[in-house]
Amino acid sequence: MRTCVGCRERAAKSDLLRIVAEPPIAAGASGPTVLTPDPRGRMPGRGAHLHPDPECLALAERRRAFGRALRADGPLDATAVQAWIDAQPGRQDASEHALRANPERADRSDERSMSTQRP
Ligand SMILES: [Zn+2]
Repeated sequence: MRTCVGCRERAAKSDLLRIVAEPPIAAGASGPTVLTPDPRGRMPGRGAHLHPDPECLALAERRRAFGRALRADGPLDATAVQAWIDAQPGRQDASEHALRANPERADRSDERSMSTQRP
């Protein structure tokens, strides 16, 4: 289990996108640290985990969660992460495609509502 740096909910590692920080090319170089999606979890270094969801990305940026999770100072460039999330299939039509793409997250109905009988 990992915690999404956006909404802070815990989720299975496979449901979250790993993000690593690519440091500036040269030490002392100005420019933002580039956040890079690592869907296979193979890249070395410290990683942050995020739902592949634009809302979680926005939350993480607002809370500066990437800087904390990745120990990165200064500005962060999340363009690549945004592009990765945008490229996910089914994100445009949330109602139908999201169910097919991610049924576990979409259909998390309260199981207790099944038993309406009272003792
Ligand atoms: Zn999240």
